Parts: sequence; structure tokens; C-alpha cells
Amino acid sequence: MVTIKDIEIYPVSDLATAKASPWASVSIIVRVVTSDGQVGYGEAVPTLRVNPVVRAIEEVRRFMVGKDPFRITYLFREWYKHEFYISRSFESATAYSAVDIALHDLLGKYLGVPVYQLIGGLVNDKIKAYANGWYSDCVTPDDFARRAKDVVSMGFKALKFDPFGPYFDQMGEEGLEEAVERVRAVREAVGKYVDILIETHGRFDVNTAVRMVKAMEEFNPLFIEEPVHPDLNFEGLAKIKAAAPSVRIAVGERIISVEEPLQLLERGLVDVLQPDITNALGFTGMVRIRALTEAFGVELAPHNAFGPVQHAATIQFDASTYNLLIQESFYDFWPQWKKDIVNNAFRIEDGYYKVPNRPGLGVDVNEKLLNEMRFEGMEPFHEEEPVWVIKGTWRSYKSM
Ligand SMILES: [Mg+2]
Repeated sequence: MVTIKDIEIYPVSDLATAKASPWASVSIIVRVVTSDGQVGYGEAVPTLRVNPVVRAIEEVRRFMVGKDPFRITYLFREWYKHEFYISRSFESATAYSAVDIALHDLLGKYLGVPVYQLIGGLVNDKIKAYANGWYSDCVTPDDFARRAKDVVSMGFKALKFDPFGPYFDQMGEEGLEEAVERVRAVREAVGKYVDILIETHGRFDVNTAVRMVKAMEEFNPLFIEEPVHPDLNFEGLAKIKAAAPSVRIAVGERIISVEEPLQLLERGLVDVLQPDITNALGFTGMVRIRALTEAFGVELAPHNAFGPVQHAATIQFDASTYNLLIQESFYDFWPQWKKDIVNNAFRIEDGYYKVPNRPGLGVDVNEKLLNEMRFEGMEPFHEEEPVWVIKGTWRSYKSM
């Protein structure tokens, strides 16, 4: 019998030359090795969690070594049985997610099929994507408009951005006006047929979020994402839905269990769900969450913000998903080292990525680079700008 021989963990970074936002400056790649020398790759979430996530993956490794890698559901249930906190612990969920992705990569390679064949088969051979990460250092409406035009000229038909500068909890009239002017500038720059998606990063209290969503309605966003603090979702999203029923609301990137989306779906609070394969328990969790969204007639737009193995895994998931709305992508705005971790480039063509049809995740990982770029420690932390914003955008232009 083939068994899992080891799980290697590679936090990788090029902090010396990284121009990326701190949350994007490290990738955590896992490499599952079998007793007969095959390898599968997965990825975990780094954001302000690099060290605790590495420790959590070591715990999953302790359980996995010696087991049959192909009993994927059995392994999931066994680990769920032992790991008392997986439905409550972000670190635990992302650690398991990384390994689950790698097990699917392995199984696909053994069977000689892409992962999408293991989770329902091919529905979409190309995936519509929206650009994110394109607006570093944009502050004025002009900055956003100019850069948005560049994004469209690269081939994207949709783009997402956070226009809310340095505001958190509350935002007065001046702040709201700044955000509205930024969104108006982008809408005018890209025209009415390019989709605009508005990111809020869960930053507002309920009253502010209601005002903001109503003010953004005229720009016809494809969706507004995380308009309230995530622990205010039940009350806050209900008030937003009542105040602006035609605006589509997206949430989901912080989901770590199947129960969380069920609670949102049952209450009718979400129009587009954004689970992330690197913290929603890998392919195993994503397939369960997908079934829920199908039952409630809600579309999927998976969160995908970290690194190249996540990107490849998410594309495999999308390929077998019929209620896919659109796929997030930072890929074209990454520093080169992050793209180089996998040898196969993803190219945006007319707004779409082609789905690779090679076995497993469909990409080859550059193992030499993983070793060369191995990194110890945490990503940078800056008092002046939270890690989760796009670098250089935590600014107001009215007060400049
Ligand atoms: Mg987001």
C-alpha cells in the first residue's frame, strides 16, 4: 500500500525586494510525499498567521504520516474526530485545507486526470476572472481611473477595488464622497460593460455600511463585498438587504466550516458566496459548500488572494462548478517570484483563464525555487496601514 511518507512545509518569500502588500509577501506551500516517491502540492493562508499556521500543519503531518493518501474523505473525518477545534480555529482549518488540496493533486496524478475530474468533471473549460491587486498606491480618483484602464487593456472584463481609504468602523460625509468619486472615476474609465466589484474588507459598522451601500447602488456593482464587520453579518446584512435590496452582497472568504455559509444562506443574507479553498477545508470543504449554494440558488466567486498553488487549485474547482459567477485573481499583479513558483503561466485571454487539462492541479512546482526562497518568521507589520489593504491605499486625498 502507498502511504504518506512526509509533509514538507515551505513558507517562501522575497521580502528584500517584495513590493507586495504585507499580507501577500509570504506564501505557505506544502509538499506531501508518498512512500513511492510521488508528490502533491497544497497551500495555506499566511496573513498575520505564518508561524501559527506552520505549527498547525505540523500537527496535521503528525496525524497523516503512514496513512493511505487516497482515502480522502476518511482522512478528513478521522482528523475531524481528533481535532476538537477545527470548526472554530482558522489555523487548523487552513492547515487541513492545504493538505487536502495536496491529496487531491496526488490522486489526480496517480489516476492521470485533472482534479476537476474527481469533483464532478468539466463544466467550464475557461474561467472568467476579475482583477485584484492592481491599484497599489492609488489614492485620487484619477489614480484609480488611469490604472483601471490599464487593467482593461490587459484583457480583463471585471475588476475589484477597495475605495474606502483610511476609514474603519465609521465614515463621515467627506469620506463617503471620496469613495463615491473613486468609484465614479473607475466606472467612467471602464464603461458600463466592464464589471466593477466593490471591496469593503469588513471594515464598517452597520449604520455606515447601510449608507455606503445605498450610495454605491448607482454604479451597478457586480457585488459589494463584506460591507460590515464579519461578526455583525447577521444583523448588519439584514439591514443592508432591507435598505438596498437590489445590491448584490458577497461574503465568505473567512468561512472555515460548512455551517457558517448555511446560516447566511438560510437567512437570505448573501447573493454571492466567496469561500476560499485554502481555509474552507480544501476541495472536500468546497464541494460541500458548493452543494449548499446550489440548493439556495446562490452564485460562487471563490476568494483567491495568496499564491500560485491556491490559484491552480481554485481554477480546478471552478472548472467543475456550474454556479460560478466569476473568479478573483491577483495573478497578473504578483511579483515575479510568486509566478515563478509554478512553471506554467496562466494567461488572461479576453477576460478568461483557460483550464489546464494536465493531471492533478495541472501545474509543475519549481522545487529549486521553494528551497531558495524558504523564509523564517512573520510577514511585516506596519502600524500605519493594516496588513489587509492593498499597499499604499490607506489614505485620504481630500486631506492631502
Ligand atoms: Mg475580500
